[in-house]
Amino acid sequence: MTKYVPVAEQSEEDLKWMREALAMAQDAFSAAEVPVGSVFVRNGELIAKARNRTNELMNATRHAELEAIDYILSIFPPKTENFPLSPHSGPPGDNPFAETTLYVTIEPCIMCASALRQVGIKRVCFGAGNERFGGNGSVVPVHSDPMLKNAPPYEAVGGFYREDAIMLLRRFYLTENVYAPNPRSKAKRVLKTVFQPPGVSMHGPNGQNLKKPSSRQRIRSGNNTRSSTPGGTSDASGSGAEAMSSSTSALPPKHPVEIIKNAGD
Ligand SMILES: [Zn+2]
Repeated sequence: MTKYVPVAEQSEEDLKWMREALAMAQDAFSAAEVPVGSVFVRNGELIAKARNRTNELMNATRHAELEAIDYILSIFPPKTENFPLSPHSGPPGDNPFAETTLYVTIEPCIMCASALRQVGIKRVCFGAGNERFGGNGSVVPVHSDPMLKNAPPYEAVGGFYREDAIMLLRRFYLTENVYAPNPRSKAKRVLKTVFQPPGVSMHGPNGQNLKKPSSRQRIRSGNNTRSSTPGGTSDASGSGAEAMSSSTSALPPKHPVEIIKNAGD
């Protein structure tokens, strides 16, 4: 289960660092990368910041989190030989992630969540959930699954500047993706400014994806597409976060609000 911190309960410390992560996401946007940014903070000090570089490096694993992990291990290499199998087995201070919080604009994907657990991150704060690929509870709770024995679980909480993180993705997916195999015209798309509550599932009770209704269905239901998509969509899933693991694809948005507004589809 994904945990969200209500806005009223979010600390200024967490918000301060999330603003830094958002700046990195904006940097990714400017570089035509899927706009996800991250910063790593160790004992109140920023030790790394990174953004997606999947397009630049033609490598789908180059997510912001993995970019930063590689950098941190290069400047704070653990001395204990057991680090890869038991990240906290060394003396205090040996593992650079043991007292480190990751701030990332979108919930880490399953790949990154696993890597973060392997290196023994202490805590993850994210902006918007990632219902397609999220590894902190939206899809798979990699951060806390007791089946994983070699690395301790870590705390993961979301909801920090969530709407800002989503809007960056929505703006990105309104642009033409020059890296897409078959670039689609986005001329008719409208920037959505309405948000579902965090954690509302876009999946049906059996886990199936809820399909966008046809034009005929919308007419029959008086354009009330919310009633024909009972699960709604959540967080970044309707804004393009689903394409993070494959930055070369531009998946169609699934947010019901867009379906209502976008009469030309
Ligand atoms: Zn990732």
